[in-house]
Amino acid sequence: MSRAARRRRVLSVASEVFPLVKTGGLADVTGALPAALAPHGVETRTLVPGYPSVIEKLERRDEVHRFPELFGGPAELLSAEAAGLELFVIDAPHLYGRAGNPYVDQQGRDWHDNAQRFAALSLVAAEIGHGLLPRYVPRVIHAHDWQAALAPAYLRYRAARRPKAARPATVMTVHNLAFQGHFPAALLTTLLLPPASLAIDGVEYFGGIGFLKAGLQFADRISTVSPTYASEIRTHEGGMGLDGLLRVRSEVVSGIVNGLDEAVWDPRNDPHLPQTYTRSNLGRRRENKRALKQRFGIETAEMAPLFGVVSRLSEQKGLDLLLAALPRLLSLGADLALLGSGDAALENGFRAAAAGAPGRIGVVIGYDEALAHLIQGGSDALLVPSRFEPCGLTQLAAMRYGAVPVVSRVGGLNDTVIDANEAALAAGVATGIQFAPTTREGLEQALGRAASLWSGRRAWRRIQRNGMATPVGWERPAAHYAKLYREVVAEKAGATS
Ligand code: ADP
Repeated sequence: MSRAARRRRVLSVASEVFPLVKTGGLADVTGALPAALAPHGVETRTLVPGYPSVIEKLERRDEVHRFPELFGGPAELLSAEAAGLELFVIDAPHLYGRAGNPYVDQQGRDWHDNAQRFAALSLVAAEIGHGLLPRYVPRVIHAHDWQAALAPAYLRYRAARRPKAARPATVMTVHNLAFQGHFPAALLTTLLLPPASLAIDGVEYFGGIGFLKAGLQFADRISTVSPTYASEIRTHEGGMGLDGLLRVRSEVVSGIVNGLDEAVWDPRNDPHLPQTYTRSNLGRRRENKRALKQRFGIETAEMAPLFGVVSRLSEQKGLDLLLAALPRLLSLGADLALLGSGDAALENGFRAAAAGAPGRIGVVIGYDEALAHLIQGGSDALLVPSRFEPCGLTQLAAMRYGAVPVVSRVGGLNDTVIDANEAALAAGVATGIQFAPTTREGLEQALGRAASLWSGRRAWRRIQRNGMATPVGWERPAAHYAKLYREVVAEKAGATS
């Protein structure tokens, strides 16, 4: 292996990767980045837990290492391939051999041993970084979210065990600062962390062990998924307790907007749509709108704007504001098709709203990829009223599908949607509607603006077409990540030479 090729080996460490296991945008990112990075000479391997859904999809598997004991049982490290991804998979049934959601049990409670489950993911990453596999030594370990965030800490604290190994550079990406992996300090020894690590400049966080905190403390670079979110997380309001540390580390923090998998999201060639289309024959969306309305039991005649939602139902996504704004939406003559699942109160709230406005509000509670595509391909506008949004993917899909995004002006929504204000309309560059602050009134005004723009057909078409012409794929983000890797590797080489 030449030095140049080795320089570009990146081990991506994540608890989710599409299409093997997905609960949210994290999986979309880790699933799409490897292929997008390949043209930049970056060779990505992804280390994932061996959940049943992962193990059953492996197309090739070879055992490359056996751990007699990994947090309570034996484990095998597999080198594997699936869905075009090069993988390392931790086959540890005592940690991951459970069906269903990767994080919570059937009752929706966190698995009791999540600390051990994701410490294992991080520990194996660090061991690989320290030369566990003679034939595979990454130059960069790219840890995603709290589940992988102990990797930089293990690299630091366990370096003494392998004195000759050069430590790889580390990048910590925060996909959502709200999820931090906070566990009792009593687990320190169990997690194979030294007593000295329970300190403010170690893994200690509000008296316990903070996985994400540790990653942010020790990673060479910190990235998050949009420039605006990178700024927001360094403020008291947006920092969720970690803003102090992030401000101290400001020089290594950056934001890279996510891309969308354009092969999965392509209105010209989408098997989930009754009618495919391009930006020059948008009239063909009408058939999709009809199918969407039928699927959601919406019976209004053709001439009414149809708002769509595809979302987790959580406080973050601001959908309680939409519930409150529904009377306004209905009074504008608009309809709503909502697909989502999550908080029971919101699920019930939307079920009740649908029951109270039959033929106008359609609600499907659940997770349904095909239906998500139909909403993007058939609704007039897609609502994303998030209180905070690290990047957001649904507004990118909406733009690509000619569903005009109506979004709150936060995080990645701010960075990806150009508001249809007068100047942007006059310049012909608007791609959606933004509103601020994220309140019921703000959302109601945005709904009003959307309905009025929609009725002035030509301006609306222009916004749709602009959105569809906006590059939302992985080319640009991948170039940014490749640059980040180059810089951090060069810095490391400079520091150790
Ligand atoms: P987050 O990761 O915070 O949930 P993102 O917008 O970054 O939000 O990513 C959400 C992803 O999950 C998108 O690909 C979206 O289409 C998909 N998604 C969310 N809810 C559903 C659902 N109920 N059914 C199908 N897909 C969904």
